[in-house]
Amino acid sequence: MRDSGEILVVSCYELGRPPVGAAMPFSWLKRAGFHPTLRDLAVQGPQDAEIARAKLIVVSTPMHTALRLGSAFAERVRRVNPESKVVFHGLYAWLNRGHLFARDARRADFVIGGEPEEVLVALAEALDAGGDPEAIAGVSSQHRREPPVLKRLDSPKIDRGELPGLESYARLKVDGAERFAGVVESTRGCKHLCRHCPIPPVYRGRFFGVPDEVVFDSAARQIEAGAAHLTFSDPDFLNGPTRALKILERLHREAPFLTFDFTAKIEHLIRYRHLLPSFGRAGTIFVVSAAESLSERVLTLLDKGHSAEQIREAVRACRRAGISVRPTWVPFTPWSGLDDYAELLSFLEREGLVYSIEPVQLAIRLLVPPGSALVDFPQMRPHLKGIGEDGLSHRWEHPDPAVDRLQLRVMELVVKAAADSQDEALTFARVQEALRAIREGDPEGRPVLPASPGPRAPGLSENWFCCAEPTETQLSGI
Ligand code: SF4
Repeated sequence: MRDSGEILVVSCYELGRPPVGAAMPFSWLKRAGFHPTLRDLAVQGPQDAEIARAKLIVVSTPMHTALRLGSAFAERVRRVNPESKVVFHGLYAWLNRGHLFARDARRADFVIGGEPEEVLVALAEALDAGGDPEAIAGVSSQHRREPPVLKRLDSPKIDRGELPGLESYARLKVDGAERFAGVVESTRGCKHLCRHCPIPPVYRGRFFGVPDEVVFDSAARQIEAGAAHLTFSDPDFLNGPTRALKILERLHREAPFLTFDFTAKIEHLIRYRHLLPSFGRAGTIFVVSAAESLSERVLTLLDKGHSAEQIREAVRACRRAGISVRPTWVPFTPWSGLDDYAELLSFLEREGLVYSIEPVQLAIRLLVPPGSALVDFPQMRPHLKGIGEDGLSHRWEHPDPAVDRLQLRVMELVVKAAADSQDEALTFARVQEALRAIREGDPEGRPVLPASPGPRAPGLSENWFCCAEPTETQLSGI
């Protein structure tokens, strides 16, 4: 298993960004003396010959979209090379281990949850030496279920192997221009426990820092490769705000032309608003924040730790610091109706945020993967209708069928808009018109463009999202 290509490491989807979730295990395997091949289904998947050569195939699935793609990829692996061993890792792999181990398809032989790399190396060494992989703590299989690995790892510097250059990945779009963008991860996990989030069932309120030397080396290599912008892919960059600011300030001193974006919860943007000007001066041009809903009831049920008013405050505090906000939403939940949807659209227009969200955000439906805290949540249970056809999430129905009809229609509109690279304000207007038509029982008419869509916020060129279903184009890349 130590010969070149006998281990194949595959990334499925990381929001159009260069994959960290697969590059890190690849780097660990190389440090341990293996010679793996690294491929990314999102830009250049493996050839059949590479699959056929591999004895161990490592599939990285950090998000729902990735797991859907990874699941389809595993079926291809079984056709091309039924003898290979397949190990899945990443948040959604652990949550969906029942689906991956299902006897009819046997998509995975092993699943590793939490911080996977050290255990992955132990697994590869055991398989290489003819040992018993089932004896390794942290390796789940058909026959046993192991908890996620929760410990800080001594990670090596990230090696991206022969992955394509930054030109193949999402770019920063700002002021009508595009710049190459890289990605850096400084923490994994999260200290918060939002009820619908896939991280708490795995990390249980813990997060782990990636060593500084790994963070700065990863940034330096991507800057050398042409990155003018870096995304911090941490689930919440402000879980450790002091270190986060130090990292950005050092990068800013070393490469003052760099710009940044990161993800932080609304509560953190409010609590650390005094730090926002410093983040802005260090080069932060936008933050992504999971606002989720304007309904106080929904925010409480999801245990978000913020109110609708705080969403407004956070947007304003960031803008004062020269930072744009790209809020993300879960507009379709069993507890939000057509009035809530109308309020969301009018809020986006009032606050000048039409060009600050990807249209797919307007179609996101609450995702309930197996293992989610929502499955046993009393307010959710009456709406659940069993596991969906894909086997990867629980189906639920809204008490008002018009809401489910609207969600399907909005998804249709945003899929078409993404395929046509439609202007976001036009998509927004079409969604508004779809809502009006469903409310009034009319056919859809001519959309009316929003009068004040607001400025075009900087953002990455990827127009899909981590908990959206993959598009036909994404699936055809398998
Ligand atoms: S703060 Fe964000 S990453 Fe953390 S649990 Fe909540 S939704 Fe998940």
